[in-house]
Amino acid sequence: MKSYRINEIFFSLQGEGARVGQPSLFLRFSKCNLICKVETHGFDCDTEFESGSDQTVEEILAAFGDLTSECRWVVLTGGEPALQVDVELIEALHEAGYRLAIETNGSVELPEGLDWVTVSPKVAEHEIRQKVADEVKYVLGVGQALPQTVVEADHYWISPAFEGDRVDPQTLEWCVRLVKENPHWGLSVQMHKCWGLR
Ligand code: SF4
Repeated sequence: MKSYRINEIFFSLQGEGARVGQPSLFLRFSKCNLICKVETHGFDCDTEFESGSDQTVEEILAAFGDLTSECRWVVLTGGEPALQVDVELIEALHEAGYRLAIETNGSVELPEGLDWVTVSPKVAEHEIRQKVADEVKYVLGVGQALPQTVVEADHYWISPAFEGDRVDPQTLEWCVRLVKENPHWGLSVQMHKCWGLR
């Protein structure tokens, strides 16, 4: 039976972007195709995505049911979920009554059928493969310019890079300045870290 390499499954609130504050089940996939470093990306990846266990759709659905019977939104995240998310998984979760959001680094084109796509590019613009999204979000450190994005989206966000659970005031100030200079972009802060949530 087909399985997916899953790092963790948990129930929390979406902390970023246009869905901020909405309760969601988080299905966090193991593995990533990138290594984000402060020298190249303006921040060090603080996500542990190496560990995990192989889980079938049935096991994933059972884990969701153990956490809540009410929440219908699932956030597919990672690591890089696009390395594993496929039509089979999307259809199975839809059939079980879930709506599916995904958070991807944009380097892999997504399958059809997802209900909400967040692209947070971590590669150069010419390497972005997922060019259509509901929202696009750039994580920026102090002094980093806003790229000329190739992603077409309904919402455009600048997200100040965090160091652990805190954001440097200078980074925040820099991102606020960028938003003021580019008013069709908005500020998206990783509120779940401020709330003490995962
Ligand atoms: S793309 Fe995301 S998960 Fe992968 S290394 Fe970069 S920040 Fe970490």
